[in-house]
Amino acid sequence: MPSPTPPGSTALPALALTGPGVERRSEIRGEEGLLERLLRTPTTRVLPLHRGRAQIVQAGDGVALLLRGPAITDAEEDLTVYLGEGGGTPYLGVALDGAGEPPPGTWVTLREVGARLAPVEASLWTTTMALANWHATHRFCGRCGAGTVPAMAGWIRRCPADDSEHYPRTDPAVIMSVIDADDRLLLARGAGFTSSGMSVLAGFVEPGETFAAAVAREVAEEVGIEVVDVRYLADQPWPFPSGLMVGCTARAVTTEITLRDGEIASARWFTREELSAALACGELTISGRVSIARRLIEHWYGGPLDAPEAILRAL
Ligand SMILES: [Zn+2]
Repeated sequence: MPSPTPPGSTALPALALTGPGVERRSEIRGEEGLLERLLRTPTTRVLPLHRGRAQIVQAGDGVALLLRGPAITDAEEDLTVYLGEGGGTPYLGVALDGAGEPPPGTWVTLREVGARLAPVEASLWTTTMALANWHATHRFCGRCGAGTVPAMAGWIRRCPADDSEHYPRTDPAVIMSVIDADDRLLLARGAGFTSSGMSVLAGFVEPGETFAAAVAREVAEEVGIEVVDVRYLADQPWPFPSGLMVGCTARAVTTEITLRDGEIASARWFTREELSAALACGELTISGRVSIARRLIEHWYGGPLDAPEAILRAL
């Protein structure tokens, strides 16, 4: 499949879930009967998701998405969205969350396999998942309370009562490596993490804030450290449920850690030697390869880390 656009970031090359994706062809989303036409087109490929999970097949050393023909979906029951076109093939995403059982087989999560998928396939998944999450939680009009219906091939919802249009939301969050004057990295254990899990700090951007302001505020709120020189490195769609992670790095001008808002259970500074030793003995676990958190840590470290895939949040 051709790659219509180059990846966006050189600071974190080949960051998972950042595409390039298919050509989105937004200009045809309003075509009358587009989804019905594509569901009758035998060459259409459909990505079915069930509660955010997809099915995969082995492909050489890696994995590939199990894409289906149009017959997989019951258009009456399931949310269907037009994802675009690649190499002349139209792509649809479907949320099989209607009444029926999903097709048999193993359904896996994006966190588990996202880093091993071809960029275009990961993009199909993140786009379908983010749209499906939005549709599932925005069924009513914010103006008048009437039930809304999908339109524009799944890219908006329209209110039949007042004809208002509602657009999918994306929630920006900053995630940042904080580095001190001795080139140490700050890692923190979230209140809900496992006993060994630590990561870089992150938090949602608030209304009226820039990314840099959000970085400085979150670091001050969570660990009481003052930062300057906030720099953008890369960003990553994170459809859990609708995030866009904006990866930054910042320089700390204070080092004393004061836990302030209860979101962080513990935090500490690491040298590179301390980090690799803590990983090697299992005292520390960090996010999986799919995450920008892992890539921010590796960006500071200077190369890939030998650390197993881990789930940081305690179940
Ligand atoms: Zn309305």
